[in-house]
Amino acid sequence: MSDTLGFVGLGVMGEPMCRNLAAKSGAPVVAFDVNPAPLERLAAGGVRAAQSPQAVAGEAGVVFLSLPGGTEVAAVCGALLPALAPGACVVDLSTVPVALARDLAAACAARGIEFADAPVARTREAAAKGTLSIMVGAPAATFDRIRPLLACMGSDLTHCGGPGAGQLAKLLNNMVLAQNVVALAEALAVAKAAGVDPATVFDALAQGSADSFALRNHGMKALLPGAFPERAFSTEYMLKDVGYALELAAECGLALSGAENARALLEASLAAGFGAEYFPALAKVVGRR
Ligand code: NAD
Repeated sequence: MSDTLGFVGLGVMGEPMCRNLAAKSGAPVVAFDVNPAPLERLAAGGVRAAQSPQAVAGEAGVVFLSLPGGTEVAAVCGALLPALAPGACVVDLSTVPVALARDLAAACAARGIEFADAPVARTREAAAKGTLSIMVGAPAATFDRIRPLLACMGSDLTHCGGPGAGQLAKLLNNMVLAQNVVALAEALAVAKAAGVDPATVFDALAQGSADSFALRNHGMKALLPGAFPERAFSTEYMLKDVGYALELAAECGLALSGAENARALLEASLAAGFGAEYFPALAKVVGRR
């Protein structure tokens, strides 16, 4: 099996992950993106540009994907899988539906290819530092095979279970986070409207049982100053992930009112023009009647 590693999808997360993989793995890396700009930047780190996903598959023993969502991952895998040698491995770092991850794992197995869903959590800064949290769904032997490569990109690797289990953990993380941010945005709106200093209120919450990672990060660093930059985790991407979580819940026969509420607010934020902004921008539509 070829020692060469492949990478398809070099956006906000993929470009720094690919850079770390090339710098730390010691293996040659060949990569593709429909946008040539990140490939030009990665050339300085020794990453070689390929002309298509098939060209990546023709050379690489392990191929990583970091694509927007399920539609792109399904399309790229349609091109990639027939060109991969038996014994190769596909590692999907994107966030996609659990059902798609399981379908891809089965399609790969039918061709003698290993597959792992390995979605990532944390920020683009964590991607640059190689300190992502990576949640993996794969057989134990596949996890053992890819663990040293994932360690080039992430500091916390969790083997969540078999195919789809990594996506399930990641989608539930984002479903819970979205609802936390809605709760914080509502608290902020009430504090402001009632004339009490919101910073003081958030400090008080941090001393009480409403304290949380979301309060200290999304609450204090984004909601309080009203800082919702682009090229952070966007409204569009959070809406995608909450939608995938609700799809999974529906497949399990569950109706989830909290997640539905978060989705409605994210949709309202998107409709108001905040789709590309950091997703706590939903605060700008919270409380509207
Ligand atoms: P992005 O939109 O910045 O990057 C996606 C890249 O895929 C782009 O460079 C695009 O040109 C490329 N691409 C799209 N279709 C392609 C195709 N058919 N062939 C080749 N390349 C193609 O997205 P991102 O922010 O890097 O996110 C990637 C994944 O990671 C998503 O699933 C997202 O949900 C997840 N994620 C993002 C963050 C974040 O903070 N941005 C955090 C955790 C997880």
